Parts: sequence; C-alpha cells; structure tokens
Amino acid sequence: MDIFKVFTLEAAHRLPNVPEGHKCARLHGHSFRIEVHVSGEPGERSGWVMDFADLKAAFKPLYERLDHHYLNDIEGLENPTSERLAVWIWERLKPALPQLSEIVVHETCTSGCRYRG
Ligand SMILES: [Zn+2]
Repeated sequence: MDIFKVFTLEAAHRLPNVPEGHKCARLHGHSFRIEVHVSGEPGERSGWVMDFADLKAAFKPLYERLDHHYLNDIEGLENPTSERLAVWIWERLKPALPQLSEIVVHETCTSGCRYRG
C-alpha cells in the first residue's frame, strides 16, 4: 500500500549550468507541488499505513527550509533542478521516515520528476 501527502511551496531559483541564453538562467519562481509517498502494510487495528499528521510533521522542517526561500542559497541546492530537489528532500527525509518510498516534485503543472531512492 502506498499513501501520500501533497505539499505546495513557493520558492525562487535559477539554474546556473544551463546554456547561455536559456530562460532558466534568469531568476524566477515556482509554486512547487511536492508529493511525499510512504509504503507499508496498513496496521490490522489502525487500518492505516501511518498517520498523515506524522507524515506532515516529518516534512515540516524541510518545508520551512524551502518555502519562500531562494533555493540556490541552500546547501546542496546550488543547482536546484527538480531532480536535485527530489534527491535533496529524499536524503533529509529518509532517516526520519524509513517507510519513505517516493518523492514527486512538480515544478509546473506539466513538468516534474519522481525519485525512488
Ligand atoms: Zn525553474
């Protein structure tokens, strides 16, 4: 069973390694939509894989580091592509959330990436 919670956060970034003239080299922002997925067997008595409130609490410190920040200033996100952001979140969330199974980063309504560790 796979459960997930969706978080939305606003953040600015620019991509320093794109070819000259690429629009992503310019400072801009996104309303990122982050899905945090957790896998496991639902408890026999609880009926759930985990409490969504616990999932939210585990993500909160990362949410606060990302929301309304300039991503390039964050250690490990000097080149903040969606792919790098997914890995960054995974590495910091996995210790607190061992059942973590997937991070999905939606950068726009039509673009995003999935990371499964
Ligand atoms: Zn962008």
